Amino acid sequence: MHPSRNRLLAKLLVAAALIAPAPMLQASDRNITDKEISDESNTSDWLAYGRTHSEQRFSPLSDINTDNVGKLKPEWFVDLPDKSDMVGTPLVVDGIMYYIGAMNIVRAFDARTGKELWEYDPEVAEKIETGYQRKVFWKHNRGLSTYGDKLFLATWDGRLIGINRKTGKEVWSARTFEQSEPLNITGHPKAFDGKVFVGNGGTELGPTRGYVTAYDAETGKQLWRFYIVPGNPADGFEDEAQEMAAKTWNGKWWEHGGGGNAWHGWTYDKEFKQLIFGTGNGSPWNRKVRSPGGGDNLFLSSVVALDADTGKYKWHVQTAPGETWDYTSCMDIILADLKIDGKDVKAALHAPKNGFFYVIDRSNGKVISAEKFADVNWSTKFDLKTQRHIVSENAWYNDGEENIYPSAFGAHTWHAMSYNPKLGLVFIPTNHLGNTFKDEGAKTDTSFRAEKHKLGIALSGWLLTKDPHETRGSLQAWDPVKNKRVWQVNQKNPWGAGTLTTAGNLVFQGLPDGKLKAYDARNGKILWEYDAGLGISAPPITYKLDGKQMVSLLIGPGGALASNFGGSGELGFENFGWQYGLHQRRIITFSLDGKVVVPAQPKPQIVQPIFDKKFEIDKEKAASGGTTYAVNLCVACHGANAIAGVKAPDLRASKALLKGNEKLFEQVVRGGALLSNGMPKFPELTDEELEGLRHYIRQQAHEGSSTGAGH
Ligand code: CA
Repeated sequence: MHPSRNRLLAKLLVAAALIAPAPMLQASDRNITDKEISDESNTSDWLAYGRTHSEQRFSPLSDINTDNVGKLKPEWFVDLPDKSDMVGTPLVVDGIMYYIGAMNIVRAFDARTGKELWEYDPEVAEKIETGYQRKVFWKHNRGLSTYGDKLFLATWDGRLIGINRKTGKEVWSARTFEQSEPLNITGHPKAFDGKVFVGNGGTELGPTRGYVTAYDAETGKQLWRFYIVPGNPADGFEDEAQEMAAKTWNGKWWEHGGGGNAWHGWTYDKEFKQLIFGTGNGSPWNRKVRSPGGGDNLFLSSVVALDADTGKYKWHVQTAPGETWDYTSCMDIILADLKIDGKDVKAALHAPKNGFFYVIDRSNGKVISAEKFADVNWSTKFDLKTQRHIVSENAWYNDGEENIYPSAFGAHTWHAMSYNPKLGLVFIPTNHLGNTFKDEGAKTDTSFRAEKHKLGIALSGWLLTKDPHETRGSLQAWDPVKNKRVWQVNQKNPWGAGTLTTAGNLVFQGLPDGKLKAYDARNGKILWEYDAGLGISAPPITYKLDGKQMVSLLIGPGGALASNFGGSGELGFENFGWQYGLHQRRIITFSLDGKVVVPAQPKPQIVQPIFDKKFEIDKEKAASGGTTYAVNLCVACHGANAIAGVKAPDLRASKALLKGNEKLFEQVVRGGALLSNGMPKFPELTDEELEGLRHYIRQQAHEGSSTGAGH
């Protein structure tokens, strides 16, 4: 061939290559790597629970900003079949949105329109039927994870499952605990470096020894496991960390399991090749029972860093020494590059239940600062010199009863905080509550064991109280460098949902009263508000497709406070009028030129208990029914004093408990007729116990109906 013609051909080939359309990227064929999950500049996806590996929940998008956010309108919505607990963060990958809902069912939607693509059902109901009866309450989950071509979910009954992102078909399933264990999972799995990390919860439901585990993302094979508390020394320690931890315990702690479960709050730190996670409270709560003679009880209520490859211990920070208040540290851990006193610091930011905001140097686990972000009386301060809390004299309620704040629900719990690196501010959904802890009458002998689905905290009671704060909730902006609050917006109720912050100088947050708000991130000014007509507990996400920025979230209240199991009184979710089975759970996505009309929700309705004239209440039977109700944890979903929050039907208004419907009631409670909704079956309950329950519920209903308010 002539050389010039050769050159011409080469030129034509190059031109053709430039003109030819790039092959369409098949959504789920994309092989997602750590590089992509770490890429803060990617705005078309939301690839991890906290958006990227940094868990900042900060988007560099500024199309929607302080100037125009007032024009935000619904772009699309989907009515979901879920009945309760919309607490999760959806993922967006290649224009497809994935979420995990009630009973751990996963659904995929077109993220431009909301058109459903597939559904994956891990059939949790079947597992809780065949499993131990303690699996009540935890039918929700906070998120999914993606890596390679897969999505990962963790189930209530203890499975970690890898599914194909494109088809929604199961690829592998691994058991991370046996169904007979008093454990559960509500946390998202965390995929990183070809592995998937998962923890578990359940400390209060029986003697357990918490642990975290990493699995191979391709095969589901177990790679490593780390125990959060030491086992019986007579059995030998798994590693040096366990031996070290055992020195901080007394008595025969292993008989109670020790607890320390990690149910939320984990971060992959690529720079230091470590997995940082938070741990929970002791089993049981009361240290007097758990570890007579005291001790810090490592690694309860701590932030722990493990080598990401091997699961070997690197460092820890204990946030509540000698934990006795349910001060879990299972809250978000955000990675941030800070400049403190002129020095660059690779920091981990953490605001656990105990009310202190920690800035940790994550290269070595040293606490740089820890200041109170809420009303706190259990600790006077965190001493930076000794790296220890100075715990208040009466914090362990040795004299029987003490009003302590924050409450066991935490000054901040799993509701996501976010960090805006542009403004250097962290946005924390804050609860302002206290607890009266009562020690009197608690079993203190070492034979204490929680059985079946009974609550085992070794306290005779704990009541929600008020802390000195003027409101019960707030959203606050915290400066982690100056180590102080910059602004705070007071909110009437606690349990404000997780936050999202953007380069448009915005913070988004939903509230239990159903309002989604956009704030000016610089000063807390409310710039936009949308009434979803149903309480919000999930954090929003944002992404951009076809040149359009969207803000999206799940609508529907959930989590522990929403169930009213603590008997929350004026703060109880029953006061909002969100009823189980009445209000529509949704995903709503907003944009600046949204045009869709979202149908109105039914008006909030306070439950009206039924007065059954035919039913004659036997006071003795009602009293024994009250005990049955409490020890079988009916309270967890149906609420204290049989006043339901929003997690399950209010039994005072249930037809199944009226005279003549004894068979129906028996079929539900003993027979498991409503298993698919997450109502476990209780075959061991006797006829007398069922009758007692009916009398108890009727008594609660009738007393309520006579006052007209339910309580
Ligand atoms: Ca707990």
